Amino acid sequence: MKIEKSSQDLENEVIFGELCIHCGSCNAFCPHMDFDKETGQAYVVDECAETVGLCYNACPRSFLPISEIEQKLFGETRVDLGVGVYKDIIQVKSKNKDDILYNLVLAAFESGVTKHFVLSDPKSTKPPVAFPVVVDDAKSAKKYIPKKTMDNAGPLITGIGQAYLDKKRDIGIIANPCHLQGLAKILTSDFHTGAERTSLKIAFACSSGGMTGCKYCTDFSGEFSDISFSPWGAPKGSGEAFLIIRTEVGQKVVDKAIKDNLIEITSKEPDLSSMKNFLNKKRKKNFLNLIGKDLLTAKYLKLNIDEFKDILQ
Ligand code: SF4
Ligand code: SF4
Repeated sequence: MKIEKSSQDLENEVIFGELCIHCGSCNAFCPHMDFDKETGQAYVVDECAETVGLCYNACPRSFLPISEIEQKLFGETRVDLGVGVYKDIIQVKSKNKDDILYNLVLAAFESGVTKHFVLSDPKSTKPPVAFPVVVDDAKSAKKYIPKKTMDNAGPLITGIGQAYLDKKRDIGIIANPCHLQGLAKILTSDFHTGAERTSLKIAFACSSGGMTGCKYCTDFSGEFSDISFSPWGAPKGSGEAFLIIRTEVGQKVVDKAIKDNLIEITSKEPDLSSMKNFLNKKRKKNFLNLIGKDLLTAKYLKLNIDEFKDILQ
């Protein structure tokens, strides 16, 4: 799907509309867009002549046709309303002193799925700001493995653009759900950008973010990833996490990590109730933010969401 809108519309609707979550999808492949080198905020460099702008069509906050993207990415639509499309969910722990996420990156390099990785280099925590780095081997990845989602808060998708300009292929990325929404829009669009050189997308499940636009986010797990990593809901203090495996390539990397004794499965059928609590809390709260206070107009009457609750009781 392509919409006939461009950078001015993106600026008015998303950036000035306080919906932007600094993902970098709009400025990853277009010279008319850039991001602020202090804050990571997207901005329009100069007006372009495009009527169907890549920036507008890449942005996860301009429009997000979830079912259409799922159909194109996975060949099916979601099996679970909150978690999205997946093949398996397992609970795992690391088998060495390294993090689960690092072990997945190592397995991705070792299996040949990736030759490069886009990771984040956090610059500040308040406000959260990070910038992308591209590494070419697992050893260099080690110091950039995120510990929390806010370590990723910045225009990471521009890292894919940079890797493409550097003629790199087989690029992996660890990012937040919102980044992967933008990347998925680019990958399933008819624009030829070079983003198709991405060979692995790992999402860090995000219960809430620190940016203004985060209050409108309803993706907890990273629904457009190959593998989602969620420490949320795993037994507290155990160092364990859930892996939501969505694609063949995701399965290949997890299998390699298990085969090489990097991670081990602690439960093949984990109790997801605690993760679903986090997930549902975020979705419920942010759906209400999206809907706003005025739920609907019934003839002459604007029904406030609280009044509507009373009517339903
Ligand atoms: S693509 Fe990302 S960075 Fe650009 S305007 Fe949209 S949300 Fe902001
Ligand atoms: S809540 Fe998390 S996933 Fe959602 S927009 Fe914010 S950082 Fe991105």
